[in-house]
Amino acid sequence: MNNLNILVVEDDQSVKNLMTATLKANDYDYILAPDGHTAILEASSHNPDIVLLDLGLPDMDGSDVIRNIRSWSNMPIIVISARSEDSDKIGALDAGADDYLTKPFSVDELLARLRVTQRRLSMLHSESAGSSVFVNGKLKIDYSAGCAFLADEELHLTPIEYKLLCLLAKNAGRVLTHAYIMQEVWGGSWENDVLSLRVFMAALRKKLESDEGSPQYIQTHVGVGYRMLKVD
Ligand code: CA
Repeated sequence: MNNLNILVVEDDQSVKNLMTATLKANDYDYILAPDGHTAILEASSHNPDIVLLDLGLPDMDGSDVIRNIRSWSNMPIIVISARSEDSDKIGALDAGADDYLTKPFSVDELLARLRVTQRRLSMLHSESAGSSVFVNGKLKIDYSAGCAFLADEELHLTPIEYKLLCLLAKNAGRVLTHAYIMQEVWGGSWENDVLSLRVFMAALRKKLESDEGSPQYIQTHVGVGYRMLKVD
């Protein structure tokens, strides 16, 4: 049993049917909302564990639903968007969404995204609030000492690499957009220079990943950004 309650916000009948059949077959509970206003109402009255949110809603912009929910809750939100809504997807992540699925998606993709989010939830719950040490697989970050270790060996990171690593760790499980990362690490002084970000990321990965061909810790989302995955 999953015992998780999922709020499904979707106005398209066929997508809704696919999602609810998948959730039912995998022992998730769910509630349905056909539009943004109902979604906000159901989110606040039922406090679901995860929200699956279609971005193209009949009554309001999906990003406004996210901003509303984020003003009072950190509940994980996975947005569902059509390929033509790529910029909306990035806007939704910047508004506070955790992850995204692009239509058309398979049942396996949907379940995989739910599992990633569940792992993030369990990580959030197991970590004591205000803890100064982050542990993920062999990676350990000691925030108060300002250093990181891999299998107990200290990683020799530049200040920017360390900042990047901490940002990803503090948001483990969430997809962070290029713009968000650059804003957080370099502040407003930086132009949208994705190429440079990629260079710093490659340098960080070289030190962090044992196999750069199939990275364990940092996942690339082409055209979108990066995410730190929970490693067992
Ligand atoms: Ca729709």
